[in-house]
Formats: sequence, C-alpha cells, structure tokens
Amino acid sequence: MMKEQNRTIGILGTGEFARALAKRLYLSGYDVIIGSRRPEEAHISATDECLCNLRLMTTEECIESVSIIFLAIHAEHFKDLLGDHEDKLNGKIVVDVSNRDRPSKSNSNAEYLQTLIPQASVVKAFNVISAYALENDYNTSSRQVFIASNNDLARIDVSNIARAMNFTPIDLGNLVAARRIEKHPLLLFPDWGRPCGFTIVLFIIWLLYLIFIYYVEQTIYAWDQIFVKVLNKAICMTGITVLSVTYLPSSFAAIFQVYYGTKHIRFAGWLDKWLKNRKQLGLISFTLITIHVLMSTLIMSPTYLRSWYHSTKITIPYNMSRAYELENINWMTWKGEAACMTGIFSFTILCLVCVSTLPSVANSLNWREWRFVQSKLGHVALLLAVVHVLVMGIPGWLKNPKRIYKSITFLSSILPWLTLLLKLFFTIPYVDGYVTKIRKGWERKERRCQAKCVRQKKEDLGVMNAKDAANPESGLFPEYTIQMVSFDENE
Ligand code: NAP
Repeated sequence: MMKEQNRTIGILGTGEFARALAKRLYLSGYDVIIGSRRPEEAHISATDECLCNLRLMTTEECIESVSIIFLAIHAEHFKDLLGDHEDKLNGKIVVDVSNRDRPSKSNSNAEYLQTLIPQASVVKAFNVISAYALENDYNTSSRQVFIASNNDLARIDVSNIARAMNFTPIDLGNLVAARRIEKHPLLLFPDWGRPCGFTIVLFIIWLLYLIFIYYVEQTIYAWDQIFVKVLNKAICMTGITVLSVTYLPSSFAAIFQVYYGTKHIRFAGWLDKWLKNRKQLGLISFTLITIHVLMSTLIMSPTYLRSWYHSTKITIPYNMSRAYELENINWMTWKGEAACMTGIFSFTILCLVCVSTLPSVANSLNWREWRFVQSKLGHVALLLAVVHVLVMGIPGWLKNPKRIYKSITFLSSILPWLTLLLKLFFTIPYVDGYVTKIRKGWERKERRCQAKCVRQKKEDLGVMNAKDAANPESGLFPEYTIQMVSFDENE
C-alpha cells in the first residue's frame, strides 16, 4: 500500500509534459511540487487555474521535499540536472518518462539514469502517454501505462499512482524492459505489415488472373469495365480468401496440439505469427468485403449482372403500322435472389463479429459469448460467403464442367472449404473432446512430446541466460500488443 507521505509528488521540469502531469496528478488528489532550474522565470501558474494550486520551487528543494519524483525532462539533460543531487536522491523513487528519437537495442534512457543515480530506484513509466492525453483525459489512445523497475515496491507505488490517475498499469518487471517500453511509441502499426503485404500480393495475383481470363483468353469484358466490374471480382476473391485465412490457423493450432499431445509446446514460429495476426486479417477481409458490397450495389442491374435477371425477348413486327404498348418487367432469377440473400446475411453477420471487437462491446461479453461471436458466428459468415460464391458459380460449372478448374468461383472457394471442413472435423464430439482435454492441460506421455518439451526447455534456458535477458526483441516480456481483439480466440 502507498504510504500517506507519497500523496505528495515532485515533478522536475516545467515543460509541456510536466504541466500536463501536474494538472492530472492534482485532479487525482495528489499534492504536487514542481521543481525548476529557475522557478522565478517559470510562469506555469498563469497557464492553467489548476496549476495555481501547486508549489513551485528549485530543483534541489523539490528533491528534498518528496520521496517520489517524476523526471519530466529530456534524457540528454539528466546528467546536467541530477549530477549535483545524486546524494539527495538516495532511496527515492525517480520516474523516468522520457522517450527516444530512435530505438536502441543496447541501452535505455532509464538504465542510463539508473547508472547516474545508483542509490535511487528508477522506474520507467508514462512515456507512452502523451501530454495531450494526460491533460484532456479523452479516450484518444491506449490507457495502458507500462512500468519497469528493479525495485518491486517502487513498481507497486507507481502502479498505484497510475491507477489513481485512471490509467491501467502493466507491470513489465525489471528495468531492462525499459528498452521495449521506450521502443513502443516509436512503432507505427507494427502488427499490420505482414497481413497487409499478404493481402496486396494476393490481390495482385487474383487481378492478373482475372485480366488473363477475361481479356486475354476470352475477351469477355471491355477495358472500360476494369475499374468496377473486374476490380470488384478481384476484391471479392481477395476478401473471401483473407477471411478463410483468418480462421484457418485455429485448426492448424489444434492439429499441432493433437500431434504433440500437449499444449505446453510452443507453436512453430510461422503458426504463432499467423495466430497473432488474425485480428488484422479479419479487419482487412471485412474492409474488402465492405468495398465489394458497395461496388456490387452500384452495378446491380441486368446490364451488369445479366444472369441474375430474367430476360424477355420482344420481337417487333417488320411492317408495323400501329404502336404497341409492350410491358417489360424483369425480376431476378433464383440465382440472383439467392446470391443477394446469402451475401447480405454473410455481410451482416460479419458486421456483428467486427462490432463485438470494439472495447465497449467486448467488455460487456463474457468469455463464452465472446467465443460464440468470434468463432461460431465468424464461421457462419464464412459459410454463407462460400454459399454466395457457389450460387453464382455452380450453374456455370454444370454448363461447362471441363473448364471448372479455371472458374474464379471454383478457385476462390477452395481455401474457404478447406477452412470450413477442418472446423467441422474439430467439432466432431470425440475430436472436440480430445482437443479440449489437451487445452485443459492433459498430456499424452509420448517420446515425441517429451523430447520436444525437453529441447524447448533447454532452448528457453539457453536463450534466457545468453541473449534474451538483454534483448528487447525477445519474447520474455509479456506480449502487450493488441491481443484482446481477435477473430478467433480458440487457443
Ligand atoms: P519540454 O517542453 O522541452 O520541457 C523540458 C523541461 O526540462 C524544460 O521545461 C526545463 O524546465 C527542463 N530542463 C531541465 N534541464 C534542462 C536543460 N539542461 N535544458 C533544457 N531544459 C531543461 O519537454 P516535454 O515535452 O515536457 O518533455 C519532457 C519529457 O517528457 C521528455 O523526456 C519527453 O520525451 C517526455 N515525454 C513527453 C511527452 C509529450 O507529449 N510532450 C510524452 C511522453 C513523454 P525548467 O527550465 O523549469 O527546469
């Protein structure tokens, strides 16, 4: 528990971050003392009415008055400012909020600070929160505050402060984790590169194939139609392929676990990355499918989708003397209606799956409901999407069975079928029971599993001792990327 004296907190620096932090701490019920090199020149109280209530003093006085000090200055000034006060900081908690301009694998600002003031307990925290978010308390970005320090009690004290300020502290352990914490604000969508790259390559492959089929081999469409008619097909095929790729790895994970007869062996690297990218893949497929829905709605007419509508042939007599009134009402064929129905249902269910990933909705669901929406409903959306493709494709396959292997509807439904069949296999009661047993911790005592387990433990120990203890890229720190929101949380 935090002691009463810790209700007074010192902040060194009077810059943008220091002012926002001071205001937030004050509004959270703390007494705040601000330390400046030139307190007489730091007119901070004029900028905000909250700040009028804070005490402003010299750096030295501030350090002497409190036991927890936030260092709201840039790392290059650490030595200048603290060099003369090393003794006065003995036993105190110094929170380093600084960020770097570029990542460093070998050292962090916080570790450097700890070498400057070895008798103090340096805590890395709050660097991932912007001054704007501190001051305005809007839900503009993540509320997570990552915390690292070699002193367990200091970590607890700073975690309590973060909680009192309405943030979520995430304890990452020793100060070496500061390397990863400092890297965090420098990252730009780190989890999206692979899924986006995969989608772009897939899209290009489908588009080139369509151009080959429609323009080179069969000359079916005019080049004018490439922007909507043809592109829409490429987008649709990419969307359904990416959607099946979103759900496929959960079955691969089950195969992996059944093969080794345990859940205590790490997934192969490629499978692990694939599983972690399901959220991104799901959102990409949803975006593509939304574009497909919009484009299809725009071109919904007998001119574009001839086989979806009944056609009426009207023969006008050669030597017509009188005008005839001809009524020509065309309604949809069963194919058009069935394709619309399955497409609309699939898209609506997919919307529900996506909405359930919003934090406010996800928080209102229990684990079973979450799994039901993400896994069961997601697979139903995929099934309906495949039926949508089949409805459009089967009449053509029956008419021309020899060309089925070239049909885009056939090719784009292979992977979704594989995904659905594997899922079906793993829902067979006996198989499902066996996988559930493994996921609850049961292990098949087989040489294969034991040998793999022993090898992995050795590898882990070796990695821990030699490399990962110092490497911010290692998997030793808890994974704090956006794992909460996933399209299928089977594992
Ligand atoms: P800033 O506006 O430039 O303020 C830095 C303060 O450091 C100055 O006001 C100054 O206060 C003090 N300082 C102490 N020694 C200094 C020296 N030798 N030379 C110049 N200034 C000295 O910077 P900031 O934006 O508040 O950022 C402060 C720290 O917070 C940085 O490490 C930054 O990486 C981190 N941070 C900032 C944000 C943000 O949104 N701004 C977000 C996360 C982390 P006195 O003159 O009163 O001593």
